[in-house]
Amino acid sequence: MTTLAVGKDVLSHCNRCKLNLSHIIVTMKDDDKPHKVKCNTCGATHVFKDPKKVTKKKKTTRKRTTKKESINDDWNKRMDTFKGEEISYSPKGSYVPGDLIDHTTFGKGFVEKKIDLNKIEVIFENDIKILVHNIQ
Ligand SMILES: [Zn+2]
Repeated sequence: MTTLAVGKDVLSHCNRCKLNLSHIIVTMKDDDKPHKVKCNTCGATHVFKDPKKVTKKKKTTRKRTTKKESINDDWNKRMDTFKGEEISYSPKGSYVPGDLIDHTTFGKGFVEKKIDLNKIEVIFENDIKILVHNIQ
Protein backbone atom coordinates (compact mmCIF):
# COMPACT_ATOMS: atom_id res chain seq x y z
CA MET A 1 0.00 0.00 0.00
CA THR A 2 1.34 3.40 -0.94
CA THR A 3 1.81 5.89 1.83
CA LEU A 4 -0.47 8.85 1.51
CA ALA A 5 1.04 12.25 2.17
CA VAL A 6 0.60 15.90 1.23
CA GLY A 7 1.57 16.44 -2.40
CA LYS A 8 0.91 12.84 -3.44
CA ASP A 9 -1.73 11.56 -5.82
CA VAL A 10 -4.86 9.89 -4.54
CA LEU A 11 -8.03 8.67 -6.20
CA SER A 12 -10.97 10.69 -4.92
CA HIS A 13 -14.48 11.39 -6.05
CA CYS A 14 -14.80 14.89 -7.48
CA ASN A 15 -18.17 16.59 -6.92
CA ARG A 16 -17.61 19.00 -9.78
CA CYS A 17 -16.48 16.40 -12.38
CA LYS A 18 -18.85 13.77 -10.90
CA LEU A 19 -16.13 11.21 -11.43
CA ASN A 20 -13.47 9.34 -9.53
CA LEU A 21 -10.29 11.12 -10.54
CA SER A 22 -6.70 11.58 -9.57
CA HIS A 23 -6.31 14.31 -6.93
CA ILE A 24 -3.32 15.89 -5.21
CA ILE A 25 -3.45 15.69 -1.41
CA VAL A 26 -3.50 19.20 0.07
CA THR A 27 -3.91 18.33 3.77
CA MET A 28 -4.04 15.07 5.73
CA LYS A 29 -6.63 14.12 8.34
CA ASP A 30 -4.83 11.10 9.76
CA ASP A 31 -1.66 9.33 8.72
CA ASP A 32 -3.63 7.27 6.23
CA LYS A 33 -6.57 9.55 5.44
CA PRO A 34 -6.40 12.65 3.24
CA HIS A 35 -8.47 15.62 4.41
CA LYS A 36 -8.45 18.07 1.51
CA VAL A 37 -7.55 17.21 -2.04
CA LYS A 38 -7.15 19.16 -5.27
CA CYS A 39 -8.68 17.79 -8.46
CA ASN A 40 -6.12 17.39 -11.25
CA THR A 41 -8.87 17.78 -13.83
CA CYS A 42 -10.91 20.82 -12.74
CA GLY A 43 -8.53 22.24 -10.14
CA ALA A 44 -11.15 22.40 -7.38
CA THR A 45 -10.00 21.85 -3.79
CA HIS A 46 -12.45 19.87 -1.69
CA VAL A 47 -12.68 17.34 1.11
CA PHE A 48 -11.42 13.88 0.15
CA LYS A 49 -14.17 11.45 -0.80
CA ASP A 50 -13.29 7.78 -0.87
CA PRO A 51 -14.44 6.50 -4.30
CA LYS A 52 -15.43 3.16 -2.74
CA LYS A 53 -17.69 4.87 -0.20
CA VAL A 54 -19.29 7.02 -2.89
CA THR A 55 -20.27 3.89 -4.84
CA LYS A 56 -21.59 2.23 -1.70
CA LYS A 57 -23.80 5.21 -0.90
CA LYS A 58 -25.41 5.13 -4.34
CA LYS A 59 -26.36 1.48 -3.88
CA THR A 60 -27.97 2.23 -0.52
CA THR A 61 -30.05 4.98 -2.11
CA ARG A 62 -31.32 2.58 -4.75
CA LYS A 63 -32.23 0.01 -2.12
CA ARG A 64 -34.13 2.49 0.04
CA THR A 65 -37.79 1.54 0.18
CA THR A 66 -40.24 3.86 -1.47
CA LYS A 67 -43.15 5.35 0.45
CA LYS A 68 -45.52 2.82 -1.11
CA GLU A 69 -43.28 -0.10 -0.18
CA SER A 70 -43.12 1.05 3.42
CA ILE A 71 -46.92 1.41 3.54
CA ASN A 72 -47.20 -2.09 2.14
CA ASP A 73 -44.75 -3.47 4.74
CA ASP A 74 -46.68 -1.80 7.51
CA TRP A 75 -49.98 -3.10 6.17
CA ASN A 76 -48.65 -6.66 5.85
CA LYS A 77 -47.35 -6.60 9.43
CA ARG A 78 -50.73 -5.42 10.69
CA MET A 79 -52.52 -8.10 8.65
CA ASP A 80 -50.27 -10.77 10.16
CA THR A 81 -50.97 -9.76 13.71
CA PHE A 82 -54.61 -8.68 13.44
CA LYS A 83 -56.89 -10.85 15.53
CA GLY A 84 -60.26 -9.10 15.41
CA GLU A 85 -62.98 -9.10 12.82
CA GLU A 86 -63.10 -6.92 9.74
CA ILE A 87 -65.96 -4.49 9.38
CA SER A 88 -67.53 -3.48 6.06
CA TYR A 89 -66.85 0.19 5.51
CA SER A 90 -69.73 2.61 5.27
CA PRO A 91 -69.63 6.40 5.67
CA LYS A 92 -72.41 5.96 8.24
CA GLY A 93 -70.28 3.67 10.40
CA SER A 94 -68.15 4.76 13.30
CA TYR A 95 -64.59 3.53 13.52
CA VAL A 96 -61.78 3.67 16.03
CA PRO A 97 -58.02 3.30 15.55
CA GLY A 98 -57.13 -0.38 15.23
CA ASP A 99 -60.30 -1.37 13.38
CA LEU A 100 -59.90 -3.37 10.17
CA ILE A 101 -62.35 -2.15 7.58
CA ASP A 102 -63.26 -3.59 4.20
CA HIS A 103 -63.71 -0.88 1.59
CA THR A 104 -65.46 -1.67 -1.71
CA THR A 105 -62.85 0.22 -3.77
CA PHE A 106 -59.65 0.19 -1.72
CA GLY A 107 -59.95 -3.22 -0.06
CA LYS A 108 -58.90 -3.95 3.50
CA GLY A 109 -57.51 -1.12 5.58
CA PHE A 110 -56.53 -0.38 9.14
CA VAL A 111 -57.89 2.68 10.87
CA GLU A 112 -54.76 4.55 11.93
CA LYS A 113 -56.27 7.57 13.64
CA LYS A 114 -59.28 9.80 13.98
CA ILE A 115 -58.63 13.12 12.28
CA ASP A 116 -61.84 14.70 13.49
CA LEU A 117 -65.40 13.63 14.26
CA ASN A 118 -66.08 12.74 10.61
CA LYS A 119 -62.68 11.79 9.23
CA ILE A 120 -60.36 8.84 9.75
CA GLU A 121 -56.94 8.01 8.36
CA VAL A 122 -56.82 4.48 6.98
CA ILE A 123 -53.78 2.44 5.88
CA PHE A 124 -54.64 0.36 2.84
CA GLU A 125 -52.40 -2.20 1.18
CA ASN A 126 -50.60 0.36 -0.98
CA ASP A 127 -51.82 3.75 0.15
CA ILE A 128 -52.99 5.86 3.05
CA LYS A 129 -56.44 7.38 2.57
CA ILE A 130 -58.62 9.79 4.47
CA LEU A 131 -62.16 8.44 4.72
CA VAL A 132 -65.32 9.93 6.15
CA HIS A 133 -67.31 8.27 8.90
CA ASN A 134 -70.06 9.10 11.37
CA ILE A 135 -72.08 10.63 8.52
CA GLN A 136 -75.72 10.78 9.59
ZN1 LIG B 1 -12.80 17.83 -10.63
